[in-house]
Amino acid sequence: MPPRRANPRRVKLHRIYSAAELAACLGVHKNTVRHWQANGLEPVSKGRPTLFDGETVRAFLAKRNASRKRPCPPGTLYCFKCRQPRPPAMGMVEASCQNATTGNLSAICEVCGTMMHRRTRLSAIASIMPNLDVQIREAGPRICERTEPSLNCDNRKD
Ligand SMILES: [Zn+2]
Repeated sequence: MPPRRANPRRVKLHRIYSAAELAACLGVHKNTVRHWQANGLEPVSKGRPTLFDGETVRAFLAKRNASRKRPCPPGTLYCFKCRQPRPPAMGMVEASCQNATTGNLSAICEVCGTMMHRRTRLSAIASIMPNLDVQIREAGPRICERTEPSLNCDNRKD
């Protein structure tokens, strides 16, 4: 069962919610709210009933959702074997141009040796792979004809 992702925008900023109200507002079980609380969602006060401030809830959920997306931080590619972003072995990345604006980055996972791929805008390579040795491979006809899918963390919709 895919985990349900609560939409922070459903929470009103300037409102105080009880756990039950919050659960109803976000369409989650009350236990989910307790789980959030155990994972760092701060109630307004320690007293009973437990009350949550909308602004705090929003910030908590936005941060939580963002961390679940597993975006690749700069200098990493997503390794499907390790199931997390990994730096390239020996800092070596190969970039192949697909067309004038897009390219595929390939590198070997530093940890497990699996080939990793990441699609990128060519203009973004310097910021995505700072301080790394990126070898640009010009697109020859052979490369353009390849139909190999790009395993790209940015395309992951989970
Ligand atoms: Zn790996």
